[in-house]
Amino acid sequence: LADSNRSQVIIIGAGFGGIKAARALRKAPVDVTVIDRNNYHTFQPLLYQVATAGLEPGDIAYAIRGIFRKQNNVAFRLGEVTDVSLADRFLWMSDGARLPYDYLIVASGAETNDFGVEGVSEHAFGLKTLDDAVRIRNHILFQFELCNSRPELVDEGALTFVIVGGGSTGVEVAGALMELFDHVLRKDFQRSTIEPAQIILVEQGARLLPSFNDRQSGFALKKLERWGVKVELGCSLARVESGGCVLESGKSIDTKTVIWAAGVRGASPRGFDSVPVLSGGRFQIRANLSLESHNEVFVIGDLAGAQVDETFLPQTALPAIQEGRHAGCEIRAAVRGKKSRPFKYRDLGQMATIGRHAAVVELPGGLKLRGYVAWLAWLLLHLIKLIGFRNRASVLVNWVWNYWTFDRTARLIFGHPVDRNSASK
Ligand SMILES: Cc1cc2nc3c(=O)[nH]c(=O)nc-3n(C[C@H](O)[C@H](O)[C@H](O)COP(=O)(O)OP(=O)(O)OC[C@H]3O[C@@H](n4cnc5c(N)ncnc54)[C@H](O)[C@@H]3O)c2cc1C
Repeated sequence: LADSNRSQVIIIGAGFGGIKAARALRKAPVDVTVIDRNNYHTFQPLLYQVATAGLEPGDIAYAIRGIFRKQNNVAFRLGEVTDVSLADRFLWMSDGARLPYDYLIVASGAETNDFGVEGVSEHAFGLKTLDDAVRIRNHILFQFELCNSRPELVDEGALTFVIVGGGSTGVEVAGALMELFDHVLRKDFQRSTIEPAQIILVEQGARLLPSFNDRQSGFALKKLERWGVKVELGCSLARVESGGCVLESGKSIDTKTVIWAAGVRGASPRGFDSVPVLSGGRFQIRANLSLESHNEVFVIGDLAGAQVDETFLPQTALPAIQEGRHAGCEIRAAVRGKKSRPFKYRDLGQMATIGRHAAVVELPGGLKLRGYVAWLAWLLLHLIKLIGFRNRASVLVNWVWNYWTFDRTARLIFGHPVDRNSASK
């Protein structure tokens, strides 16, 4: 229960950053309210596996109330924060509630960035939430069912799957989709249905996985091409339409599936108009992660413009986790009258998986791994980082099952996906 003598801390968002911040306040004499529009935390790095029927949504989501069950100074509130009044130190929720705060941590993450490309928000699939992932899974499986009964739809692009963005997410989706088609759906459907299926990965830069070194990028390209993914490098998307998409070169592709994995931008409630917005929709912040004009407001994770050597930290989980911990420690120090410290980022490297037995890992100090060992390291790290023993056990069982049986039990179509083929006519 809130104690009116204690400082009130509100954390917007129970993602990687928000959870870590609340945990860092475990022993602080404050009352913490964590607000999220979902009652669960999503482990976004494995969203692509839900989208490609490798895992169930429940495997990568964890109830927020369960996370804080044993932390007495945290209360959870389900809902959408719509506005923040920095001057008056309160925020509004979509249900009309008005909550005052002494300290605020904005950990609201990011949203899909369409970079102004026409038709993306209307016709492409984003991959940012569990709903997005399930929508993609439903849609892809539905395309095969449709083509099974109406083979003429293949000529209209029903089995052409375009992925835009050759970063980690795009590469992971392309590799996992190819595995789904080749190992699983090939056994489910007749050859005439599965053979025409094609995956096109479009990347505007000269290589895949641009944040990795050249050889790692080359490895990813070689693997995907060997598995049958058509990779279009140096090629950007001009627009997406209901029945297809058009590249800047003028080439048009008939497709009912454009998966947009080209990037994100920081997302926040309203009320931050006075805060300068930097590249990637990130908020300009001070060295201790607070706002220049309001030292009681901290911004962390994908929304934070934290930099090392004048380079922005990537919008990935590791900076969010470390920033969350730092913001929590800063508030703890402030209520105890201790001095503020600048945030220091500890680089632990980066990794991306391409598919079965193929991943790339780069560690600080220059060590680079690729192939089987990197893939094992990727599996292990993601398993460890999942929240909750049940989720870890369930993901492990699913992975072992998928690996040995070449099967995907999660290839289920929920609800009634829209038949985009008839819609486009
Ligand atoms: C498909 C995909 C794959 C990824 N793969 C990797 C990877 O392999 N490795 C890696 O390190 N990173 C990866 N990332 C990036 C990583 O997930 C993010 O950088 C990280 O989640 C950012 O943490 P965060 O706390 O800033 O925000 P998030 O984890 O996104 O959390 C934000 C939370 O805020 C809530 N929220 C937002 N706005 C409001 C509001 N107005 N009211 C209430 N609640 C709100 C949201 O519901 C959400 O729970 C991936 C991301 C995606 C989408």
